[in-house]
Amino acid sequence: MVEYTDQALVLRVGRFKEADCWVKGYSPSQGVFTAFAFGGMRSRRRFCGCLDPLNLLSLRLKKEKGGRYVSLMETGLLAAPRRLRQDAPRLGMMMNCLKFLEALAPGPENAPAAFALATQTMAAFEECERLPQAFPALFRWRLTLDQGYRPELETCHACGASLRQGEESVRLALRDGRAFCARCGWNQAAEASHWLSRAAWDILCQAAETPPAAWGGREHRSLDATQWNSTQFSADDVSAAARAADRYVVMHTGVHWDRFGYRRS
Ligand SMILES: [Zn+2]
Repeated sequence: MVEYTDQALVLRVGRFKEADCWVKGYSPSQGVFTAFAFGGMRSRRRFCGCLDPLNLLSLRLKKEKGGRYVSLMETGLLAAPRRLRQDAPRLGMMMNCLKFLEALAPGPENAPAAFALATQTMAAFEECERLPQAFPALFRWRLTLDQGYRPELETCHACGASLRQGEESVRLALRDGRAFCARCGWNQAAEASHWLSRAAWDILCQAAETPPAAWGGREHRSLDATQWNSTQFSADDVSAAARAADRYVVMHTGVHWDRFGYRRS
């Protein structure tokens, strides 16, 4: 029997006997895992009443003889969302993000980045006043990029022109993650690429490079240059970015949404 400690964001909890439960979580060292908490529904001393989805926990675990299953010995509460649990639309978006994380299930090698993104997302949902409607699509995009599918964001693959300034539109070749300026983009095959407006491209670049709390708004100087203001991207630009993101994500991960949840094809 091997005992070890870990951290996890709780994805789901299920009961299987009067007092026992299983916990499915995401940890920065293992990715998705399931552990059994015997007495989990009763023992406040060992589990501090904190075996609930969305809680961030410290864990003491034990791999049982033969390695057939893992038992949860003890937990401590590191963070629990409050606002999220009282705001149904936010909660819906957060759960959607976590379901995608669970379906994609980045393994141990990519788990630290995925875990960081998930916990930063949770913090953004707790703290930010305004978040874009298409937040889950930006989350899927970023998580996919962090798993090794990062496209070129800076320069046109053909001519080297900067894609971060000046260009009125950008064409993203979905399969190989190459991006082209408006002039070079015309040569790309229509079914395997996606045109984006300048603003929609900015949204995808922002989601690729900044923490979730910064998504969907743009920082700029006031007219008299005395302070920084932030304005939201338009809803149209955000949905255009989300459409491109979703095509890219499905192509590279095979994870798509159907009526019942995320599926990997
Ligand atoms: Zn070009």
